[in-house]
Amino acid sequence: MPMQTVRFQNTIRHSCHVHGRGYWSGQPIQLTFLPAETDTGIRFVRTDLPGRPQIRAVSENRIEMPLRTRLHQNNAEVDMVEHVMAALYGMRIDNCLVECDASEMPGLDGSAHAVTLALQNAQVERQHKARETRIIEEPIRLGDQRQWLVAMPADDHRLHVEYRLDFGPNQSIPSGIAACALTPRNFAEHISAARTFISSKDAQMLKEKGLASHVTDRDLIVFGEEGPINNTLRYPDECARHKLLDLVGDLALCGYDICGRIIACRTGHAANGRLAEKIRTTKPKINIAVKAA
Ligand SMILES: [Zn+2]
Repeated sequence: MPMQTVRFQNTIRHSCHVHGRGYWSGQPIQLTFLPAETDTGIRFVRTDLPGRPQIRAVSENRIEMPLRTRLHQNNAEVDMVEHVMAALYGMRIDNCLVECDASEMPGLDGSAHAVTLALQNAQVERQHKARETRIIEEPIRLGDQRQWLVAMPADDHRLHVEYRLDFGPNQSIPSGIAACALTPRNFAEHISAARTFISSKDAQMLKEKGLASHVTDRDLIVFGEEGPINNTLRYPDECARHKLLDLVGDLALCGYDICGRIIACRTGHAANGRLAEKIRTTKPKINIAVKAA
């Protein structure tokens, strides 16, 4: 069992804003990130609705939706939260109010880059209470032969994440493996700017259904038979890195730090979210000596 050094909780020192339009709805939205007290967690606040309902970003409020993560509480929803959650979790911001004036988070460039930059500029503020950790003590496995997730004990006190992307042979979307120890530096430098992607066939199907009609191949990576259309990749393995970003955003709904090694193969938000729920509801078996560094 690794020696556990518990860290203090963090919030942001200053408020910050990010604005854009939702991919699915096309609606403009402004996000305002505000500092919050210890043990607040991440809460979305719908400032456009009467009573300004709050939605806690935890796995029990997750609703299964295709291709995105939606949260529901107090008769209110927020949609496409995964990239915002990835940025907060990746930057170790534990307590934050995220005010929003529409339900769907901004699509931006398809990555978490703008939110990460805004949070970096708002600066991390250390608080006077330890952050709780869930330690993976026994292997957890979800899924089947093709799509699976495993969580295993780590031999250090960190969270290691790995995503294996593989659509099979002769696909224009490149297969790849992205992995790192999740630290704010690794997240900001290697994961946050990886953009979401779609095949031109799927993009066409969405348009025919009248969805995401304003989104163009400049707003995310659209893969044709020959590769990205009107776009160049930021990294050769940008797609695998983006799936790693999504995994981080889904694990964030666990609401705790995680100590362990998590490998995801071909999974989407639904399976990732189920693992977050499993980790969240697993009672810690050992007492952690709080030795705040
Ligand atoms: Zn994504």
